[in-house]
Formats: sequence, structure tokens, C-alpha cells
Amino acid sequence: MDLFDSKDTLIEEANKAYNQGNPVLTDPEFDLLAETGLKVDTRNFRTKVAHPFPMGSLSKIKDAESLSKWAKGATGTIIGPKVDGAAVRLSYRDGRLVQVATRGDGVTGNDITGNARNCVVSETLPYPLTLEIRCEAVIRKCHADKFEKNLRNVVSGMLGAKDPRPELALVEFLAIEIVSEDPLTLAAKRDLLREICMKELTVPSVIYDQAPSFDEIEELFNSWKQNFPWAIDGVVVEKFHDLHAMVEKETELLPKHKVAVKFGNEAAVTVIEEIDWKLGQHGKLTPVLQIRPVEIDGTTVSKVSASNYALLKSAGLGVGAEVGVVKSGDIIPYVKEVHTPSQEGLDIPSCPSCDTQATLSSTGIDALCSNPECEGATLVRLQRQFDLFGIDFISGSTIEALVAAGHDSLEKIFSLSESDIAALDGFGRKSAHYIVTSLHKIEVTEAKVIKSAFLKGIGERKGTALLNHYGNLDTMIATIKEQGMTSIEGFGPIQTDLLNTQIGLIETQLQLYRSLGIKVAPHTAPAKDAKTVCCTGSCPGKSRKELKEVLAEMGFVMASSVTKDCCLLLCDDPEGNSSKLTKARKLGIEIKSYEDFFENQ
Ligand SMILES: [Zn+2]
Repeated sequence: MDLFDSKDTLIEEANKAYNQGNPVLTDPEFDLLAETGLKVDTRNFRTKVAHPFPMGSLSKIKDAESLSKWAKGATGTIIGPKVDGAAVRLSYRDGRLVQVATRGDGVTGNDITGNARNCVVSETLPYPLTLEIRCEAVIRKCHADKFEKNLRNVVSGMLGAKDPRPELALVEFLAIEIVSEDPLTLAAKRDLLREICMKELTVPSVIYDQAPSFDEIEELFNSWKQNFPWAIDGVVVEKFHDLHAMVEKETELLPKHKVAVKFGNEAAVTVIEEIDWKLGQHGKLTPVLQIRPVEIDGTTVSKVSASNYALLKSAGLGVGAEVGVVKSGDIIPYVKEVHTPSQEGLDIPSCPSCDTQATLSSTGIDALCSNPECEGATLVRLQRQFDLFGIDFISGSTIEALVAAGHDSLEKIFSLSESDIAALDGFGRKSAHYIVTSLHKIEVTEAKVIKSAFLKGIGERKGTALLNHYGNLDTMIATIKEQGMTSIEGFGPIQTDLLNTQIGLIETQLQLYRSLGIKVAPHTAPAKDAKTVCCTGSCPGKSRKELKEVLAEMGFVMASSVTKDCCLLLCDDPEGNSSKLTKARKLGIEIKSYEDFFENQ
């Protein structure tokens, strides 16, 4: 059973998983799969639509030499930022918006008109024109902290999702060009675009008599990158001979008169020498690619991690594959390009702990060790439990030693006395004392109890949302068991289903903790009429976390950004000019210094 021989299947599965809030690929991995293929939009519930004019994509240029070769003979160029968004077309008939579609494979795309109407979009044009506007669907960089994923992937995920999400209101369509049945000159097209689209939502461009040098283009790129409110990932260069000549209708999927110029992030080329598998929670085996060591950014990189078995299978990442690896700054190195896929193929791995051959998960994405007696899996499970408790004195190797001595469950470990532990190899009186004392001091929140059931996608944050809804854990368990879970904001059908069927696991964890004498701190839900405040700058004597706690005790909820729901902005300097202060002034929100605020409370 090998589900992922084609990369489209994995992209489809990954999109679905992302829309359900359980991403299975990292952003660079998603890009790696999407890079070479045009068939990213494979969500089958969308209606496919044929494009009236093909929507091409651009070939890439990465160095000065290729640029001058390509630009040779051009008497003029138009240069603009390459916006890092999702390519779409907005089709207007007699000045009314009739259809919005994704690029898809350039010939057919997906009809996303419904979701697009929830975005920032003009339903009408100032004139009764019939034409299409090519756009990049984008979210401003200032909203990046609201999402865990690269904004382009967020946008395509939401536009393609079955149900509209509230965050679609943040999506804007940046106009790039007009395509129409009527012949127009390049100059007329540019003028018309600026006339019918909001200036702010039109991608800027500069006209040059000749092609500028690679360095000049890089300078433009850097200045746009810094000042543009949306992410850009290169520069688009279009060459022309006469701005006032009629433009031929575009029919090519890879137009020759336009290229994308890209900078930096050069990948180091190397070869995959071996693949190791790491055993994780639920018996999941995660691949670690051993590569021929390469020097990147002054450090030697010899291994690269990857999310799952299916990614390797779909991208041809096996022993012998020639790949481009990227690492910049603090990010973990990852495979950016596959130059030559592996000829050896990829076998289903064996568990590094018990050597049993793995099985594939029902989705085909993960390789799993399904041996119930696997000692490695037991260890991973216990280590996750102890990570959750956060005890300094009980390290990974302590747990390993306890499991090796046969104490392989929480119950067994909690029943050990100081002398039991001191009698084990490698433990002294002192460490035995610390361990037993720490075990008896463990205290967890109710949200952590929910997390400890390790239901996919249900962590502490989701746990807190559930507790806020139900009040406390006992009520939550009883209510879900008796009546089933009602729809709660932020929980999709998959997670609701998961909780309805697996609520027993959370109950078991709660009972286990109580029987072990672990103190479970009752949940305190924020008051229903809590006021929202936003904070900027540092508060004297309080960390951000302490500040949040103090405010919560006073009945305030701390928001991460200034919105009209805020009643107050706290800051270190009320005369300052930070973006939060500027926005608060614009919205007429009261501004107070931390000093004033805490003095008068
Ligand atoms: Zn195993």
C-alpha cells in the first residue's frame, strides 16, 4: 500500500490537514513539493474552471550573467516587486465581479468566488468593462503573528477551504495587470489598471529605458522588501520594445518577455547518504537525512530533518538523491530543491528501538512502529508525560534508566520509594531523594491534563479554549460524554469528532493523575465581561508573562494587537511613535503609561 507515489496526492492531503488545523508538512516542505509542479490546487470539492486566457508562471533568473543574456536587445523594461502571494484572476463582466479563480495548472484553476467575496475585493469597477485583473492574493506582514504558517500558504489554504474562515477579511488582492479581449497598448493597460483599482492595492512598477544591472535590481528588491506591507520574494522584469504598440494576447504558460529575478538563499548542493528514523510519540518514525557534510553560513551541516515518510517518498528523497540544502540564520536546515531524485527508492523503515518493520498510517503519511511491546515507544510516551510535568531533576536519561529497570509506567515510577530508587544502578541517596520529593510536588493545570491525552491537534491552547467554554474539566468531560460536544469556535469537524470519540482518554488521564496524588489546579476562566487591553514597550519590574497575569487578576485580557475592541493601550512612553501607539491614536483608544495605570489602581 503506497499512497504517495505522486506529489499531488500529498499536497492535496497536506492542504486538507492544514485546513483542519493539523499541518503535516512544514512551509519549506510544502514549497519543495509545489515548486516544480503547477498542480497545487487539487482540492477535489472545488469546481474546476477553464481560464479564458492562460495564466502563465515565470521562469527564474538568479545571477547577473543570465539576466544580461535574457535582456539583450531590450529597449525598455518594466520592473516591479514579485509579491509572494497566491496567484488568482478576478473576472469582471460589464463592470461586475463574476468569478474569481486560482491559477491551478495555468489552463484550469479552481473557482473560489464564494470565499473571495469574504476578502477585501471590489464587487464593481468604475466603468462597465469586461476584463480580468491578474492579482496576488495576500495578507499584510503585520498580521503574520496571528498565523503559525507562511502567509502565502495561509492565503491559499483559506481561499481553497470548503468553509469560509473569518480571517478571509484580511486577504487583499494586489492588482498586477489587466488581460482583456480588446487589444490595448502596454501603456494603456498600465493607465487603466491604475484608474480602476485602488492605488494602494496596485503593485508598483518602474519603467527603465534599458535593462538595469543585476545590482540595481537587487537594490530595488531590498528597498521594496523593507517598505512594502506585503512579503515579496523577488523582482519581476518585463521587457518591451514600444510601450505604445498593441500587446499580443498572451498564450504562453511560460512567457518569454517576463522573468522573475531572485536573490540570496543559495542552496548548497549535496547528496543524501543515509536515512535514520527517530521514534516519537504514538510510535511515529520521523526521518533524519544524513547528508554528505556541506559548509553553509560558516557551519557544517551533516543532517537535515524532514516531517514524514510520505514527503520523502513523494519528493524522491532517498539514498543517493542530489539535493539543495538551505540554512540561514537560526533556522533549521532543510531541503529546498531536489536535483536528482533517489534511484534506490525508499523502503518502509524498521523501528530503531525494536527493529519491527513499520506500518503506514491510514492516511499513508507516517511510518509507525505498531509493536505494542516496543520499549522505545514506551520510553517516548513516558518522556512526553514528564516533559509536560516540567521537573528539573528528572531528565531523559533518568527516565531511560527507570524504564530499563522495569519501571515503565507512571504508576510504577510513582510507587517507588527513596530506597527503591537508591538501590538502582546509577542512582545515589541524594538523587533518589530529589526524585521522590519532586514527584510529590507535581502540580498541573486542567489544560495540561487535556494535553496529556495527546489527541492530535489538542494542545494546551485548545485545552484552555475548551475549559473557557465548559468552565472546568469535570463539567467538560461529563457534558461531552452525555450530550456530545457542541460547535465551539476554533474547533473544526475533525477535532470535534476526535473529542467526542476520545473524551474517555482525557478522563482516564485525569483519574490517573488524581490517583497518583498529582495536584490538578482548577481552571479559572476569564470573566465574561473582561476588558481588553493592549501593551507596548517594556513594563518596569514585570515580564510580559507577569504583566499578563497581573492584568488578568484585575479583570483585563491582554490582546496582542490594537483593535477597536481594546479599551486601553498601556505603554512605557505615551509620547512614543510605535505602530501600536499610532494605531491607538487613530482609533481614539485611551493611552496610559504603566506607571500611571498601576499607581491609580
Ligand atoms: Zn518499535
